[in-house]
Amino acid sequence: MRPGGNGLGYRDEVPGDRDRHGVLWTRMDAEPGAGRPDFRALHPARQRRTMLERLCQVCGGPADRTSRGWLFLVQRAEVADFGDVEGLLSTKPPVCRPCAALAVRHCPHLTDPLLIRSRKPRTWGVFGGFFTPDPDSDGIVPHPEDHHLPYGHPDARWFLAAQLVIELTRCTVEKEERRE
Ligand SMILES: [Zn+2]
Repeated sequence: MRPGGNGLGYRDEVPGDRDRHGVLWTRMDAEPGAGRPDFRALHPARQRRTMLERLCQVCGGPADRTSRGWLFLVQRAEVADFGDVEGLLSTKPPVCRPCAALAVRHCPHLTDPLLIRSRKPRTWGVFGGFFTPDPDSDGIVPHPEDHHLPYGHPDARWFLAAQLVIELTRCTVEKEERRE
């Protein structure tokens, strides 16, 4: 808890720990190329950069873009849960064409892929968790569930971000990528 009890902070906080909206981000070591990929979790800083710079989330090169927009690959169930492709909130950065095919073949979590084009992916907010003051211990406690939090939310000072969330607008669904 920050001195004065007004939100979260790191004891040795540096400006890079917050984004330009003032939201605090999870710290994680950066060792590109080391270790094995964890397909479920994207590295927070790299996820944010690929989102903001429209880079492919797999190879880091430019994401695929046509007159119909940037290319995104999501699990079909995400769209079903949300109700519509238009306005879908997503933490998955865009992809390039070759990596979309690669991901469909190799990513064990992408069992029912859907390719979406978005002409206007809009920065919406963050995904992560709340930590709030614990009356019993003087400290802070994490909330059991993770949340999507829009930028500008009054409770953002109690939030630790792990992923950037974008809203996919002006969408069209692409021809399907099939598993071979
Ligand atoms: Zn790629």
